[in-house]
Amino acid sequence: YAAKGRGLGVCRYAPDLDGHSAERLRLLGELRRAVDEGELVLHYQPKVSLPGERVEGAEALVRWQHPRHGLLFPDAFIPLAERTALIRPLTRWVVDAALRQCRSWLDSGRVLRVAVNVSARNLSDDRLADDVAELLQRWGVPASCLELEMTESAILADPARARAVLERLAALGVVLSVDDFGAGYTSLGHLKNLPVHVLKVDRSFVAAMGTDRSDALIVRSIVELGHNLGLRTVAEGVEDRDTAERLAALGCDEGQGYLWSRPLPAAQFERWVDAARPVPTGS
Ligand code: C2E
Ligand code: MG
Ligand code: MG
Ligand code: MG
Repeated sequence: YAAKGRGLGVCRYAPDLDGHSAERLRLLGELRRAVDEGELVLHYQPKVSLPGERVEGAEALVRWQHPRHGLLFPDAFIPLAERTALIRPLTRWVVDAALRQCRSWLDSGRVLRVAVNVSARNLSDDRLADDVAELLQRWGVPASCLELEMTESAILADPARARAVLERLAALGVVLSVDDFGAGYTSLGHLKNLPVHVLKVDRSFVAAMGTDRSDALIVRSIVELGHNLGLRTVAEGVEDRDTAERLAALGCDEGQGYLWSRPLPAAQFERWVDAARPVPTGS
């Protein structure tokens, strides 16, 4: 197994997810159990407004507390789940856990939006909107506090079905975001006709904005495109102050990245939020 460290004690276990290797099959069985037995955890990364840098919400990013391999990043197991029906219960678990967390933030006076990533298979499944409606109701969280992020390629895998699912989600009042925008190949014609609200500029362009003139121009073009279509724009992968200032100057609405915080376990995230924006006392 290839494994390398990457902060916060998370192990970069890199299983071979291709083909029908014994390792892949074992991991899939373990993942099925993990969803039911509470081995998945969410870490939260703040999203801040630009230029004010007020905390608006958080992206929930799944990790797997694996009994033998330690804490695993999503790229070690999400692709596996995505190729099977397991992605539905997994996404349902993530939405449920994220909304329970959001409920707890609301109850403690922290009005924050929570964002969850959904996969191509979720978008071709009518039950996604049913699950989301049921879970919003279960936790009494306003739909506008839930954001769903999906990549361009997830939408384009089956655009007609994705569109129908997105329309139902939009009708509920959920915020819909195109993740990693610019990295794939969305036809702009599709974009115009989809009920999406946010473009998240892919971090590959954001990372080099300060040093690469064409990346800076691409980010500017995406922000302008988004605004011309009436969408909000968010930059992911903001790692330094210079980049944050450039983004604010371009009118990008929100930022997310290591400059502010890495994804954190819930308790640490709350401390971070409270340090950035004290909770009113007496609430
Ligand atoms: P994503 O949705 O684009 O999430 C952003 C990724 O960038 C996260 O990696 C985050 O930790 C990382 N990141 C954030 N800020 C920075 C930065 O400043 N610099 C750099 N270099 N990286 C930054 P993570 O947590 O490993 O997640 C990777 C991908 O896994 C996500 O990409 C998303 O596509 C997928 N994923 C995560 N959680 C879920 C989930 O619950 N369900 C599904 N279906 N996919 C998920
Ligand atoms: Mg995302
Ligand atoms: Mg992204
Ligand atoms: Mg990504």
